[in-house]
Order: sequence, then C-alpha cells, then structure tokens
Amino acid sequence: NELLGLLGAWLRGEQYHGQHHLRGASSSLRPVGQGLADLIGNTPLIRLASLSEQTGCQILAKAEFLNPGGSVKDRVALEIIQEALTEGRLRQGGLVTEGTVGSTGVSLAMCAAAFGCHAFIAMPDDAAIEKAQMLQALGAEVQRLRPVSISHPDHFVNVARRRAAEQPNAVFADQFENVANFRAHLKTGQEIWEQTGGHVDAFVSGAGTGGTIAGVGSYLKQRRPAVRVFLIDPPGSGLYNKVTRGVMYTREEAEGKRLKHPFDTITGSMATSLLRSLFCLESEPFCLPPAFCPLPEGIGINRLTANFGRAQVDGAFKGTDREAVEMAAYLLRNEGLFVGSSAAMNCVGAVKAARALGPGHTVVTVLCDGGHRHMSKFHSPAYLAEYGLTPAATGRGLEFVA
Ligand code: PMP
Repeated sequence: NELLGLLGAWLRGEQYHGQHHLRGASSSLRPVGQGLADLIGNTPLIRLASLSEQTGCQILAKAEFLNPGGSVKDRVALEIIQEALTEGRLRQGGLVTEGTVGSTGVSLAMCAAAFGCHAFIAMPDDAAIEKAQMLQALGAEVQRLRPVSISHPDHFVNVARRRAAEQPNAVFADQFENVANFRAHLKTGQEIWEQTGGHVDAFVSGAGTGGTIAGVGSYLKQRRPAVRVFLIDPPGSGLYNKVTRGVMYTREEAEGKRLKHPFDTITGSMATSLLRSLFCLESEPFCLPPAFCPLPEGIGINRLTANFGRAQVDGAFKGTDREAVEMAAYLLRNEGLFVGSSAAMNCVGAVKAARALGPGHTVVTVLCDGGHRHMSKFHSPAYLAEYGLTPAATGRGLEFVA
C-alpha cells in the first residue's frame, strides 16, 4: 500500500505524506499563511445553479462572506491599513479611526489588531447595541453619538476624522473617499478574471462607497473592454439617476442645494426621498424612522464618492425591498445559501442583467456578507411581517424579479 501510494503520488506530481496522504490535497489547499492577512480575499467563486438554470446564463457569485471578518469589507480594511503602514502614516501601536455602523468597523478592528494597532469606531447611538458590543469585543474603542446631519461637527464621521487628526500615529480610514478601497477591489476583479479564465460578460453590484463596482469593473474592463458593468440600486439611492441621467452632486454641492431643490439629489419614493434629504445625504438607514428605511444595508447613497467616481458603469437597474427579501428566501431554499441584504440585492441585479443580455452569457456578482448580521431586520420574520414583506416562498421560479 505504501509503495502504491508513493507511486500514485509520484505519477500525480504530488509529494507523498504517508498512508494518510489526501488525494489532490497539495494542489487544492492553500499553503501555510502569514496570519490574518492571508485569510482575506481569494474567496471561492460559486455557480448559482438555480439562478443559472432559470435565466439560461451562468450566474456566478464571489463568496465574500467567507472572509474572516464575515464580509467583503475585510479586503478594504486590509488595504487601507497596509497602505498607511507602507507609506509610514501609521506605525505599530497606532490608531485607525472610522465612522461606521457597518461591516467596515468589524474588519478594521480585526485588521488593526493583526498589525499591532487598534481601532476607534464612531457610530450613532440609535444603531443596534449589539454592533457596539461586537466592536468592543474585537478590542475597538467605540463612541456612540446622537444622530445629527453630516454637516454637523458631531456627526460620527466627523468625530472619527477629527480623532485621527488630533493625535500622532493615527489615520482616518475614510472608506468612502479613500481610493485604497478601489485598489483593494482591483484584486477582487483579478481573482474573478482568473477564476473564470476570462470568461465573463458582465459584473453586477450595488454600491455603498462604490469601491467594489469601481475596482472590480475597472480590472475586468482593462482585461476585456467588452465586459459590461451594471449597478443594482435600492430604493432611495441616487446612483441610478447618476448612471442613467448623469444627475448627482458631491456632498458639498448637495448640501448647498439641499434646501432649495430637495429632490434634485434623490430618487426613490417621494416620502423616503424627502426624509432622506432632510435627515442626511448618505445612505445611513439608522438616520431614518424604520418605516422609511430601505432594507438592503450598505448599498445606496445620494452623493458622489471618490470611489464611485472611478466606476465605469454601462447600465443600472432598480431593485426593491421585496425583490431582495424574496431573493434571500430563494437562495436559501434552492442553494442553501444564507446571505445578507446587499448580497440578495446583488443577485436580483444578476438576474436582471442576465435577462437584459439574453441566454448564454456569464454574469458575476458578489455575496457581500452572510445573513447572520441581519437577524434583527432583513432576516427577522416579525420585522418583515410588520412591513408586509414576508417572502411568499413559492416554487422555484424567479417571477418575483421584475
Ligand atoms: N454590502 C455590505 C454589507 C456593505 O457593508 C457594503 C459597504 N458599505 C456594501 C455591500 C457595498 O460595497 P461598496 O462599499 O464597495 O460599494
């Protein structure tokens, strides 16, 4: 047996590791890594069989929920911190600050710790308490603040920016404007290119900071200009208008114009839009009363960020809360995948893109995070029932995608 094993391994070009040698192991397992950084990225690309069969396209999704921090934001946090360290703006023992309620805080806290630094996260005090507790458990310093307009000095983003400016060896991560975010996603694009062997016709994604759609889209278009990049935009976001009509202001312009022309910067339902324009200009659902919060968290925005500014987008689709909720139920039922709201919305976008392109194309999207962080809203049966969004759980069809 030993001799046969040795011979077999030799024929397959593998090193033999005794009787317990695992066939194919040396080619399919990653080599010994260098800590947390080596666990980030290089995520699997999976074929969503049910969506592919229904649309006649290959629908492929990048499993970003497998990153150690549980989301695509690990890539961004790692790039931001590594760049700051390389450029000497941050050294061991330093501080990374950010204003966020999203996954970026978790990713920054973990990556900061891995490089001997620590994180300061400012967030509004109406964000779920579990978010603050989780960040504290990850060693971050957390400051919870009364929700105010982004133009107010006590807005959590401004507090995070100021904190970094006030002390030496501290950097403001600034995921919206820092194009290290875009650069992190050039790598995501490269992975998609290599995993598909260059057989990719379209990439679809929602945008929060815009880092994903800009970075992945740019890499793919650089390799093959015919690759089409599509945006899927949730209710209340202004990006659809930006892509289809070129209408969008920077934060400064929007703030100047806000009171004179509140609807210029806004799309979506009038009620949502008005409230958004009055309360804040970013997609920060915690600023709004729950009835007006679009469900997909992390995507949708009403100003032009530096990262989205780098995106080359060929077309845009609108997605609804109902489509996202139904898609999440569909993916669980048909694929066994438990995903978050932006991931579900991305899959809605992938179906819309597949229909627009017609059968035979390969459409790639991103599963930004898993469902676990969405238990109080998107995956809460009680919450969904309250807003009339209980998924219908009908058959295998995609009739819920408009
Ligand atoms: N999904 C989730 C869960 C997010 O936190 C974010 C980022 N805010 C996105 C999607 C959007 O990605 P990007 O910022 O690259 O546009």
